[in-house]
Amino acid sequence: MSKEHYVQVALDVPALPILTYKAGEGEPRVGDRCVVPLGARRELGLIVGMTSHIDIDEKKCKSYLRLINEIEPLSTHWLKFTKFAADYYQHTWGEVALANLPQFFRSKPGPRYAMSLAKLREPFKAVKVKQVPELTLNDEQARAVEVLKKHSGFGAFVLHGVTGSGKTEVYLRMMESVFKDKPQAQILFLVPEINLTPQLEGRVRSHFPDKAVVTMHSGLSQGQRAKAWLAMHEKRAQILIGTRMAIFASIPELSLVLVDEEHDLSYKAGDGIRYSARDLAVKRAQMLAIPVVLGSATPSLETWANVRVGHYNLLTLTKRAVQTAVMPQLRVIDPRHCSLIKGISTEIVEAVSDRLSRGEQCIIFLNRRGYAPVITCTSCGWLSKCPHCSTYAVYHKDRARLICHHCGWSHAVYSRCPDCGNVDLIPMGAGTQRIEETIAHLWPEARILRIDRDSTQRKDAAEKAFASVHAGEVDILVGTQMVAKGHDFQNVTLVVVLNIDAQLVSANPRGEERAFANLMQVAGRAGRAGSRAEILVQSRFGDKLIFRALAAQDYCLFADRLLQERKDEYAAPFVSQALLTADATDIDKALEFLRLAVQQAEIIRNRYEDFAHVTVYDPIPMALMRVADRERAQLLVEADTKARLNRFLRLWYPAVVSLKSAVRWTMDVDPVDV
Ligand code: ADP
Ligand code: ZN
Ligand code: ZN
Repeated sequence: MSKEHYVQVALDVPALPILTYKAGEGEPRVGDRCVVPLGARRELGLIVGMTSHIDIDEKKCKSYLRLINEIEPLSTHWLKFTKFAADYYQHTWGEVALANLPQFFRSKPGPRYAMSLAKLREPFKAVKVKQVPELTLNDEQARAVEVLKKHSGFGAFVLHGVTGSGKTEVYLRMMESVFKDKPQAQILFLVPEINLTPQLEGRVRSHFPDKAVVTMHSGLSQGQRAKAWLAMHEKRAQILIGTRMAIFASIPELSLVLVDEEHDLSYKAGDGIRYSARDLAVKRAQMLAIPVVLGSATPSLETWANVRVGHYNLLTLTKRAVQTAVMPQLRVIDPRHCSLIKGISTEIVEAVSDRLSRGEQCIIFLNRRGYAPVITCTSCGWLSKCPHCSTYAVYHKDRARLICHHCGWSHAVYSRCPDCGNVDLIPMGAGTQRIEETIAHLWPEARILRIDRDSTQRKDAAEKAFASVHAGEVDILVGTQMVAKGHDFQNVTLVVVLNIDAQLVSANPRGEERAFANLMQVAGRAGRAGSRAEILVQSRFGDKLIFRALAAQDYCLFADRLLQERKDEYAAPFVSQALLTADATDIDKALEFLRLAVQQAEIIRNRYEDFAHVTVYDPIPMALMRVADRERAQLLVEADTKARLNRFLRLWYPAVVSLKSAVRWTMDVDPVDV
């Protein structure tokens, strides 16, 4: 009998190795799922290999209970890719592979499995598509598309284009050229934010009326996600637009990967398996020998470093695509040297009035939601601290509550000081709600809209809000980062930036890099359709390089300088890092655990010469030490190369697991917050 009797099964269980089971009913294939006994439980597993002999006692080897083979097995590539991600981010294969299947496919089949599956396969509802006129590419756009067209095999391309330079049109034509070569091709288009998918989805659908387009993001129901996933898996859909989770989709004919706004932090998972969808996109493309395009007006320093050493190919768009569009002029206003009206300089107030009188739109950008970041007692100095975190609870005036943005704790706002009874409590600083109130005072007749996470909690609220800006129903838009991203506003001619200084002087080594990306992006919302446009920044640091680079719209100047600094300081991206974070009821326990982890690291480091270039730092409490009553500390490990770091982690990670500590901990490879 040539049949292989045993299947190797990956399970979604931490630290559990691949297990071997006897093949039961059916004809198992690698990439099928099956239900297996695990102790007293039944678990869903993924068959990752088959074999005809085993080392363990035949009698001890159990059979799987049920084979699930109603859909095509997951491809060898998909298995290899998830295996790579598991090894790289220090998790088990099963944890990565299974956890990233839609719930329907990672659960044990229920009694109505076949029926549910049939329902998932029902055709998609027809979507009405707005017709968009064909554009003629400009020279730079055409060249970018041409370079990709001529290319074959793996290649990482960085599409660096100023805001409004028409990157989307380039993506569309690149996709078109891939479909021309290979009609059955499938394409993955990653976007940072679900808010941006509807706009993009519309453009993609209208450009490719004959292709089925599906989306995948956290705003969809489990059923919708499973439906989209299956359509890609079964090649009924050709284009997948999705947020970071989409990187793990099964896409058998994947031929091109696009990553829009590749610098965006949302590509890095903040909990669970801390993967970077952007980095995995490059890896996946490499494994498949296909091109990947990373687009941004402000590429991340990691990506820029790869451009500068020649690993990635640079495609540049230097001008705005709409002929009449202008780049906004930058002016920095020092609040110490001018008169202020409720914290806003008179120059800004005049500029806004000027736009309003001409019927143009303004954006006021402020990266802080709520009314005020803290309230204080004028008599005893009491501050609205969160009782569970080492931070302040933010005052939300609309709900008359103090809310902690870190743990969610909330409390009705006090009418008198809880410490001294004084009734004079005042808000300090300003968030979007307070600015909204201020501008309503200054311009009572203006139509004002605030967009931030609080104002857009209801389903579709964000989409509706943005639509009303596009429709010209708003004169002044106030908001957080949400307003900075991607939107192609036609009538915005002034962008005001308040309160960027905290970011410019933050202890976070990436603070400046992020401030630059934020500023470039929000500046990019102005002047899209012509007429003069301005960006006014209220800042005390007008002489910083960041503003010179911004005024000249010169990302390269800024990025090259920052890269040089990083190189001199021997900092990321010139070193590879992993961060072990521990949290416990008190900081000593967390630190104690990390010290044990350091001991393990030292043992490994001393055993192998290979690890002479691995540095293990002292554990330290985190800057924001306490969150939700857990006190947190971290331990940084650095190596000169990713490969060496990975070799080290492969030995160290199991050693940390074997400490069997009650302390909660996570390992973050390539952390973005160090
Ligand atoms: P980006 O993503 O680079 O910020 P978009 O793709 O949003 O820029 O394009 C900005 C604007 O330029 C859009 O209104 C788009 O329709 C327009 N546009 C793009 N390419 C061209 C072109 N070749 N000719 C005319 N307009 C264009
Ligand atoms: Zn008081
Ligand atoms: Zn809190």
